[in-house]
Amino acid sequence: MSLENRLELATLPTPLQPMQNLSDKLGGPELWIKRDDLTGLALGGNKTRKLEYMLFEALQQGADCIITAGAIQSNHCRQTAAAAAMLELECHLVLGGHEPGSCNGNLLLDKLLGAQIHWAGDHRKGEDIPLLVEKLQAQGKKPYVVPYGGSNLLGALGYANAVLELVKQSETRFTHIVFASASGGTHAGILAGARLVGLTAQVLGIRIDKLDAPDQPFADKVLNLANEVAADLALEAFSKEDVLLSEDYLGGGYAVIGDAERQAITTLAKNEAILLDPVYTGRAMAGLLDLINKGYFHAEDKVLFWHTGGAPALFAYADAL
Ligand SMILES: *Cc1c(COP(=O)(O)O)cnc(C)c1O
Repeated sequence: MSLENRLELATLPTPLQPMQNLSDKLGGPELWIKRDDLTGLALGGNKTRKLEYMLFEALQQGADCIITAGAIQSNHCRQTAAAAAMLELECHLVLGGHEPGSCNGNLLLDKLLGAQIHWAGDHRKGEDIPLLVEKLQAQGKKPYVVPYGGSNLLGALGYANAVLELVKQSETRFTHIVFASASGGTHAGILAGARLVGLTAQVLGIRIDKLDAPDQPFADKVLNLANEVAADLALEAFSKEDVLLSEDYLGGGYAVIGDAERQAITTLAKNEAILLDPVYTGRAMAGLLDLINKGYFHAEDKVLFWHTGGAPALFAYADAL
């Protein structure tokens, strides 16, 4: 089974913790949190599980440098830079926009981790990657491209594997699994992993970025990716109805921090001493808190929030917070 073709980059299993204070305060449902902010690789996050599979393939192919792309404060890019440093591979990051005047949060960490940064300026996400590949090849190097957000079949396998970890760790029968969904790999992997182990929990992604890729709506991307994983693991295919995606919490757009995100971040910090991030988990938790408020859950439901990391970006958003 291809689930075994992975490197060990993360410190696993990540903790699974009850959020007792918050559950009591809200009067139910029973809230739990899976701490993938603690995957261990240079301040952690969900991309580490994906990189375990993608970089296994990179090493198999004899790659000596890794290329990926993302936003200035990309957690994905920071974890890719960290994994590359561990594996002694050169790392090239194509970051959106122009070099900012101050360097903090994930960007600071990218530099400390030794990544070479290329500024995309006004070019679209990832547009510059083919040129960079050619340039590195012309220098005699063997680049391996990690897709945006690490969301391809291999990346999603990281989250199918994570569900195996979850059921080994606990016999709690969660009724819902809620998390931030942005490039779709986490969502697709959790769906496939849940089907693999027979979990009946509702898998609910909170959408973070309202922009679709030019070629397909986001829900289709999640469905197609979940079906790639399903085919790989010999599972029954998914249908449109299996992809539950809330689009109610997109706020002012990607990485625009509003009251809902600010409140969710301070609620978790004050009640549970857990640090969410401004872009993804702050928004997803704002969605979960709103759903609780609206009576979406029963008091006896057991709801798992899957923390996907990102707290290093808090410092870069100090003013907005
Ligand atoms: C990338 C990221 C996500 C979204 O995961 P996808 O697999 O891209 O949907 C959620 N939270 C954090 C902190 C992230 O960095």
